Amino acid sequence: MFTGSYSYSSISRMILRPASLANLLVALLRESLKGVSYRGAASPDRLHVGGRKVLILGSGFGGTYVLRHLVPELNLNENIETTMVSDENFFLFSPLLHEVATGRIESRHIAYPIRRLHWRDRFNFIQASVENIDLSGHKVMTTMGPLNFDYLVLALGSVTDIPRSDPAVTNIFTLKTLHDSVLIRNHIIGVFEQASIERKPEQQRQLLTFTVCGAGYTGVQLVTELRDFIYRTLLRFYRRIDPDNIRIILVEAEPKIAADLHMKLGAYVMKQLQHMGIEVRLKSRVTRVREGHVEINGGEIMPTSTLIWVAGLAANPRIAELDTEKDSIGRVLVNKYLELPGFPGVYALGDCAHFEDPMSGQPIPPRAHTAVRQARVVARNILAEIRGKDKKP
Ligand SMILES: Cc1cc2nc3c(=O)[nH]c(=O)nc-3n(C[C@H](O)[C@H](O)[C@H](O)COP(=O)(O)OP(=O)(O)OC[C@H]3O[C@@H](n4cnc5c(N)ncnc54)[C@H](O)[C@@H]3O)c2cc1C
Repeated sequence: MFTGSYSYSSISRMILRPASLANLLVALLRESLKGVSYRGAASPDRLHVGGRKVLILGSGFGGTYVLRHLVPELNLNENIETTMVSDENFFLFSPLLHEVATGRIESRHIAYPIRRLHWRDRFNFIQASVENIDLSGHKVMTTMGPLNFDYLVLALGSVTDIPRSDPAVTNIFTLKTLHDSVLIRNHIIGVFEQASIERKPEQQRQLLTFTVCGAGYTGVQLVTELRDFIYRTLLRFYRRIDPDNIRIILVEAEPKIAADLHMKLGAYVMKQLQHMGIEVRLKSRVTRVREGHVEINGGEIMPTSTLIWVAGLAANPRIAELDTEKDSIGRVLVNKYLELPGFPGVYALGDCAHFEDPMSGQPIPPRAHTAVRQARVVARNILAEIRGKDKKP
C-alpha cells in the first residue's frame, strides 16, 4: 500500500481514521528503520513516503545517460529502486556502426557492457525485450515478466523505416544494431569470395555492385568506408577480381546529399564522392527489391547483391503503439520537462520522443547528442519529483 506518494493533507486525513492511522504509523516506522527521509530542501506538501521504483527502458544513449545522471545522485536513504531493461546488455555507440560493417574496427570497440558501469551495485539490470507498456496501469510487460514503476523512462530508440519486401529476399540489410553491422561485413566478404570464383563477368558485376539507399550522414559515411574497405583491404586478398566490375551506388530521393549540411559543404562532399568513383543518384528512389536486383524509379533494373537501407526512421513499435499523442513517425509528444502530457512520472527522450525546439517550432533531430542532453533533464526532473522540488525544462 505504501508505495504511492502522500501529501501532508492526505496524511492528515488518514490520521482522522484509526485504521489508516495504524497503517501510516507502521509504514513510517518501517521507512525510518531503513533510514529513509531525505533531508534536502523538499517542499513538505509534496514529500513522498515509501520506496519508489524508477524503470528505464533501453540501454542506448538516452537510457544509459539517464542511469548515469540519476543513480550516482541518489542518496541511499531515499529508498529508490532503479531498474534498466534492455534487449541488449551493452551500451552501443551506434555512430560507429558503419566502421564495424566495413571492417575498420571490431564490434567490441563500440559496445560497453552495462554491468561494467562502476556503480552497478546501485541498480538492477534485466536483459529482456519490452512487449507492452501500460502507462495508466504503471506496468511494463517484458519477456522476463511484468515490472511495475512509479517513474518510467522511455528510451527505446527508433527502427529503420524499410519497405516491405519479399521475405525470400536476402540481399537487403539495415544498419541499426551490432548484429546488423557484423552481418553486413560478413556478407561483403562473402560476395568477394563468390565473385573470385565467378567466371561470367556479368555475374561478377552483379555480385560486386553495392547499393546504399539514403544519403544522410550515415549513408555518406558508409559508402566512403565501404570504398576504402574494398580498395585498400579486400582487393589485396582477392587478386582474381577485376576492379572494373566493382560499383558503389548511393541512391537519394532528395535533390542533394546530407540535406542539413551547408550548401557549400554539401557540394564539396558530393565532389569528393564522385572523385572516389562512387555513383550518386539524386532524386531517385528504390521502388522495388528483388533477389539479385533492385528497381529504381519504377523502371530501371539494377543487378546488385547488396542493398543497405539507411534511409528513413520510425519510432520503436512499442512506442508507436502507445495510446498517447504521437507524430507521423510514431514518436511520442513530450512537454518541456520531457514528460508525456497526461502521464505524470512518464518521460521519453532520444529517438522515440518528439520534442519541439521552442525557437524554431521544429522537432529536434534524432541524434546521439540530443539523447545525451535530454538524459540530464530527465534524470534531474525525476530527482526533483522524488525530492518534492520543482521540475525544470
Ligand atoms: C548507423 C548510425 C549512425 C549514426 N550516426 C550518428 C552520428 O554520427 N551522430 C549522431 O548524433 N547520431 C548518430 N546516429 C543516431 C544516434 O545513434 C541516435 O540518435 C541515438 O542512438 C538515439 O539514442 P536513443 O537512446 O534514443 O536510442 P538507441 O541508442 O537506439 O537505444 C535504444 C535502446 O533500446 C533497446 N531496445 C529497443 N527495442 C527494445 C525492446 N523492445 N525491448 C528492450 N529493449 C529495446 C535497444 O537495444 C537500445 O539499447 C546514428 C545512428 C545510426 C544507426
